[in-house]
Amino acid sequence: MKFGTKALHAGIEPDPTTGAIMTPIFQTSTYVQEYPGVHKGYAYARGKNPTRTALENNIAALENGQHALCFSSGMGAVDAVIKLLKPGDEVITGDDIYGGSYRMFSKIYEPFGIKFHYINLYDAENIKSYINANTKLIWAETPTNPTLKIVDIAAVSAIAKANNLLLAIDNTFASPYLQNPLDMGADIVMHSATKYLGGHSDVVMGVLITNEKALHERLAFILNSCGANPGPMDCFLVIRGIKTLHLRMKAHCENGKAVAHYLRNHPKIGKVYWPGFEDAAGHEIAKKQMRDFGGMVSFTLKGDDFEAAMRFATNVHIFTLAESLGGVESLVNHPATMTHASIPKEEREKAGVVDGLLRLSVGVEDVEDLIADIEQALAKV
Ligand SMILES: *Cc1c(COP(=O)(O)O)cnc(C)c1O
Repeated sequence: MKFGTKALHAGIEPDPTTGAIMTPIFQTSTYVQEYPGVHKGYAYARGKNPTRTALENNIAALENGQHALCFSSGMGAVDAVIKLLKPGDEVITGDDIYGGSYRMFSKIYEPFGIKFHYINLYDAENIKSYINANTKLIWAETPTNPTLKIVDIAAVSAIAKANNLLLAIDNTFASPYLQNPLDMGADIVMHSATKYLGGHSDVVMGVLITNEKALHERLAFILNSCGANPGPMDCFLVIRGIKTLHLRMKAHCENGKAVAHYLRNHPKIGKVYWPGFEDAAGHEIAKKQMRDFGGMVSFTLKGDDFEAAMRFATNVHIFTLAESLGGVESLVNHPATMTHASIPKEEREKAGVVDGLLRLSVGVEDVEDLIADIEQALAKV
């Protein structure tokens, strides 16, 4: 089956008791047992819920995986992966990962005795010098947030396999429509389903996908033990969102491309970050591992001026000022004061997150209107 057909149908069956074509919202905490310990596979809804099962089977298919688990948020999913580790273990991760992941690693898990190396992952060879007997996991994100750098998943996977390390890829920015890391050797794929999978800015959820049964079982044990399970209504919303994932992603990619090119030719703009530019760092790898370049575009105003960035962010009318991304509506975000405020300024700037940087989540509106909106806001800068 091709992607769009899977998005609609994989794992989704009409309800056998009523024929309802949409997966019902099983708003229940527990399930009746015929005899102590004898049930239909569902005992208590922290562990399993039929609405969640349908969504998990659907997402697993989209990532070409055997198993998926849904969590109450993307961070809940990240947390479950780190809980595979123990004190003394070491993790190699990127130097411009999602701000919330950095905050969890540095503020929650470093005090528990897990060591994180925040390094340049864009040169896969650089990873080798950080590997020692305690290294257990490589946590990578590609494209990265917000400067859209590209990690070569196949190259990093080869290093992980040679050294017996787990490789987890945060695939949120690409979505399964653009990139399938399990096919390139990753052990775990993570998504914040809050973003493109849900797609309508109305739900917070996370997901982990793997092909390895034993790993899936350990993660399912962590989910059931620690309780970051999503509610059935949220699962329903993501099932519904995914039905149009392929249509939305096509529009996000087209609009992202048009906006990136418009910005690049504008005299008030400094740098434009979009992996589709032929001269973008990582463009060749992006072309190899992604089907298209996505709807995220970041840029700086000439001079990296904080005031100019503020003027742009407060003068757009169709783009709205908000954290998050991947919804149908276009958003603008100022990483330094919003999504990346928890990262110390010095480290932020090393990763290119300067005060004049803005990040656009280009939505699915008519692109002429989006460009006109950018044009009039730039005129006020
Ligand atoms: C949003 C996001 C997360 C966290 O997900 P939540 O659903 O907000 O908890 C993790 N990684 C990336 C790349 C994200 O964009």
